[in-house]
Amino acid sequence: MMKIAVAIDGPAAAGKSTIAKKVAEQLGMVYIDTGAMYRAFTWYCMYKGVNCEDEAACCALIPEVNIELKPNRVVLCNGIDVTREIRLADVSFNVSFIATYKDIRLALVDLQRKMAESDSVIMDGRDIGTYVLPNAEVKIYQIASVECRAKRRYDENISKGIPCTMKDIEEDVRRRDYIDSHRDFAPLKQAEDAICLDTSDMTIDEVVAEVIRIIKDKTEQLEEK
Ligand code: C5P
Repeated sequence: MMKIAVAIDGPAAAGKSTIAKKVAEQLGMVYIDTGAMYRAFTWYCMYKGVNCEDEAACCALIPEVNIELKPNRVVLCNGIDVTREIRLADVSFNVSFIATYKDIRLALVDLQRKMAESDSVIMDGRDIGTYVLPNAEVKIYQIASVECRAKRRYDENISKGIPCTMKDIEEDVRRRDYIDSHRDFAPLKQAEDAICLDTSDMTIDEVVAEVIRIIKDKTEQLEEK
C-alpha cells in the first residue's frame, strides 16, 4: 500500500483508540495514540508535584519530558513505564488543563508530525485532521452518544482493574468534551473534509470494517491518479 496518513478525531471515549489499533494491525500501519502523549505529560507534572492548573510551571517542564510510544500501547515517560498510571482518574481529570496549554501542544504536535514522517500512520486524537496532519489522506470523525461512550469506558476500566463508577465516568466525559471543544488553540472539531461515523449502534468489528473500507476506497482513488 502507498504511504498514507489516517486521522481519527472525536470526543472522549468514542472508541477511537480501539478502532485505530485494530485497523493499524490489519493494514500494517503504525498506530499513534496522541491522547496517551497528553496523558503522559500530565502524569509527569503530577509526579514532579507541579499543580496542573499552573500553566507556567507545567510548561517549564517541556525540555525535560521525553515521551515514547512503544508496541502494545506501552507508554514510557523519561524511561518509566506509565501505561497503567496514565489511565487513572486523576490523570484523566488533570489532562484537560494540560491539553489547553499552547506550548505543551506545540511540543507534542512537533513530536507527532515527526512520528508520521516515515511510515503510514493512523493517528487518533482531537486535532489531527484539523491541525496536526491537515493533509491526511483519510479523515474520520468518530462519535457516539455520551451514555454509550461512558458505558464503553466503564467496561474498559473494569476489565483493566481500574476502579470507577458510571456516574463519575459520564461526568468526566462531558467535562472533557466541553473543555476540548471550547479551548482557543486547536479545539476539538470535525474537519471539513472528514467523514463522520456515528458508532453508537455499531459493534467494534463493524466500525473496523467500515474504516478499512473507507481507507481502501481512498487509496484506490489515489493510486488511479
Ligand atoms: O484520547 P484521550 O481521552 O486519551 O485523551 C486524553 C486527553 O488529551 C483528552 O481529554 C484531550 O483533552 C487531550 N487531547 C488533545 N488532543 C489530542 C489528543 C488528546 O487535546 N490530539
